[in-house]
Amino acid sequence: MTTTPTRPGRVEVRGVHKSYGSHEVLAGVDLVVEPGTVTVVLGPSGSGKSTLLRSINHLEKVDRGFVALDGELVGYRRRPHRGGERLHELKEQDVLRQRTRFGFVFQAFNLFPHLTALDNVVEAPVSAQGRRRSEVVVEARALLEQVGLAEKAAAYPRQLSGGQQQRVAIARALAMRPAVLLFDEPTSALDPELVGDVLGVIEELARGGTTMIVVTHEIGFARRAADQVVFMDAGRIVEQGPPEQVLDAPQHERTKAFLARVL
Ligand code: ADP
Ligand code: MG
Repeated sequence: MTTTPTRPGRVEVRGVHKSYGSHEVLAGVDLVVEPGTVTVVLGPSGSGKSTLLRSINHLEKVDRGFVALDGELVGYRRRPHRGGERLHELKEQDVLRQRTRFGFVFQAFNLFPHLTALDNVVEAPVSAQGRRRSEVVVEARALLEQVGLAEKAAAYPRQLSGGQQQRVAIARALAMRPAVLLFDEPTSALDPELVGDVLGVIEELARGGTTMIVVTHEIGFARRAADQVVFMDAGRIVEQGPPEQVLDAPQHERTKAFLARVL
């Protein structure tokens, strides 16, 4: 069974700046991710990829610019102000609710060690979305099957390989029925022989029409799954386009140098 999480979302990032102290980590990022498409973000360590993902679901507050999901500003609300408009920050609980429209899969799987694979998937929809446990359990079993782990539902994280834990983490993200899935280097903590299974699951989701933004160094994955590839350097998108353009005919010296290192 393939579960389509929900209507795929559209992400719009406009003029986003973010600094830590005097260090400008995002120096004006613009990016549009159309519904049901896959964007792969490449770039050297420290170029701002994780900060960009964290800004998209408002784990970080941007200094300037905005992020919108389906036209709705993430973390902010427009309010009339002296004949014009002004952005007001949403209350914490509204930010939390809006954030659940994004599924986030991290490099470190962060499963609850004391819960089984099934309960890891069931937990958030019940506690954060108030859905009926019996209904969520049925869906969670289907999601574990979708990621190839039907027979591991009763296993605890310590009994699973890194690749299996990451697939549970993907099922857990899907259980929230997100409009957009964000992946931050989902395979870089895995032994090489486990990478393929996890990428396979992500590619299958891509074919199912889920909107995804994937930070990864897996160029083969980018080639197979990406609708657009974005190359970041020093807090800016320096190059973006279809994979064959960015990967096979890069225009910028920095993209060429990066690809020469990772290929
Ligand atoms: P990437 O994911 O591309 O490796 P990051 O977005 O993690 O890059 O980080 C970009 C830069 O921002 C790095 O120089 C990092 O040290 C810095 N940075 C990230 N998070 C913080 C933070 N919370 N406080 C201070 N500096 C940070
Ligand atoms: Mg990172």
